[in-house]
Amino acid sequence: MVARERGPVVRLRALLNPRRERAGALARAAADSARERPLTAGIVQLIWRERRISRAEIARRADLSRSTVSEIVGGLLPTGLVAEVGEGPSAGGRRPIVLEFQDDAYALLGVDIGATHVAVALTDLRGQVLAWEERNHPVRTDPAGTRALIAELGDACLARWPGRPGRLVGVGVAVPSPVDPARPDELPEVALPAWHGQSGLGALGARWRVPVLVDNDANLGALAERWWGAGRDVDDFAYVKVATGVGSGHIVGGRIYRGANGFAGEIGHFVIDPRGPACVCGLKGCLTTFVGTPALLDRAAALVHALGGSRLAGRHLTISALEDAALAGDPAALQVVREAAEHLGVAISGMLNLLDPAVVIVGGGLARVGEALLAPLRETVRARSLVGAVTGSQIVTSALGARSVAVGAATLVLETALADLRHFPALAS
Ligand SMILES: [Zn+2]
Repeated sequence: MVARERGPVVRLRALLNPRRERAGALARAAADSARERPLTAGIVQLIWRERRISRAEIARRADLSRSTVSEIVGGLLPTGLVAEVGEGPSAGGRRPIVLEFQDDAYALLGVDIGATHVAVALTDLRGQVLAWEERNHPVRTDPAGTRALIAELGDACLARWPGRPGRLVGVGVAVPSPVDPARPDELPEVALPAWHGQSGLGALGARWRVPVLVDNDANLGALAERWWGAGRDVDDFAYVKVATGVGSGHIVGGRIYRGANGFAGEIGHFVIDPRGPACVCGLKGCLTTFVGTPALLDRAAALVHALGGSRLAGRHLTISALEDAALAGDPAALQVVREAAEHLGVAISGMLNLLDPAVVIVGGGLARVGEALLAPLRETVRARSLVGAVTGSQIVTSALGARSVAVGAATLVLETALADLRHFPALAS
């Protein structure tokens, strides 16, 4: 009975109360714009992908009327995301005006927090690094100092980006820790004990009045390779980051696979030898205890001493000195790399058997040595994995090198903004 009465009663109230009617019109307008939002985002994604395209071609590709496309494009032009850049070839009638996606209309900040360093990239909307800052810092033990350093390096990047106040879309932050997608600002205790609980990373955005997105570093390395690197056009691949710790990011069906709690891809804690060295996680013989930076440098020091004649003798050992020595054919350095490849191969074989990715991309420290790492790694994988033997999953090094994680953090913001255009300041309403 109530339901039968509702229609006329509402109409009557609207007549008696013009303010309520106006509120109703606003609600309807909001609902209309909510319906249009995915359509507009789809058109922006199409223009982003094609870089240059006419309204008629958009209408054809998106199966929309020309007037709908014209209306939506008309709304986009003032935002600066899209510009008219002359006329294209005629398809019989009038020459169409070409629309071009403006890669430099907005910028993104990507932050890579490593165990011992902070790197910040300012990128455009095509993954190009416009400014880069990095600094060594005891990240593990100093959360407050790290946050201050991110602010300082972010400001330094933005200072080199001229004349575009209010055109920063957001900040992506990559952390060397699992991140629960439901609680990205609360890091678990396991990887960065001093950061346990509220990381304070979300609050960084207030400085630049933009949102902050936090994710695991290997996930974001994978995302960067998916958009700009060795994983382009590959829907199922793995990115393994070898650094102080070791982690993997997995693109499954074209999307980052995070698992139920954000712990997917902790390949660094895959146990290689149950009687091996103690790991920070409390287990023994994890992959990280064999191929993490401290383990590699310890092993290099021992081999330099044992083998003699190494160019590393008497030098301060760092990963980049080790890489240089391996590239120069130094026997001690090459043996460190070969042993690391064999240990990595054991863990990667297990991962291949589990997930069957088309490509495994190795990034982080050591990736720069290329074939000296890849050849023994492929050999170990071939000998140990069903999938490796049957399909020969490709194993390659990162196309983006040391910048992949920071660029991936910026790319997370881009991916989010292209899916929901309200992240672009000019489209916030
Ligand atoms: Zn472990």
